[in-house]
Amino acid sequence: MRKAVFLDRDGLINRQAAPHHYISEPEDFEILPGVPEAIRRLNDAGYLAIIVTNQRGVALGMMTLEQVEHVHDYLRRELGKCGAHIDAIYVCPHAQGECTCRKPDIGLFLMAERDFDVDKGRSWMVGDSDTDVEAGKRYGVRSILTKSLSHAVNLILAEESI
Ligand SMILES: [Mg+2]
Ligand SMILES: [Zn+2]
Repeated sequence: MRKAVFLDRDGLINRQAAPHHYISEPEDFEILPGVPEAIRRLNDAGYLAIIVTNQRGVALGMMTLEQVEHVHDYLRRELGKCGAHIDAIYVCPHAQGECTCRKPDIGLFLMAERDFDVDKGRSWMVGDSDTDVEAGKRYGVRSILTKSLSHAVNLILAEESI
């Protein structure tokens, strides 16, 4: 079994878009300071790094799933330059109330469970909004509400060393 850290995307890994704006191009995707290093620390400590992200801009017709994938290819390349990697990215492209994967529902976590043997007792959810914490709680992992991934990784690694 593998321990995992589930990561929100917007507002944690990259700068949040302005209200009613959606990040459809790599040019609009600004990775926040310290994020690649923080993800590398998770990689080195043996955690799966798994992004779970709501992207309802797809359902609203503001961007395509293909554009979202391009943005994620860019993220993976940038992380790779720092020796960091994401193990998987699960996206909810649906509008509110139309699926069971939009956080705070836990469908994205269950998709991850299909692909990885997740050890929930040693896993975490990190995000910058209440819906992230709610999703983590519903799924059954410890959750951290923060805008600083480095801060969250400090907490996770400190907890492990106790
Ligand atoms: Mg967020
Ligand atoms: Zn969904």
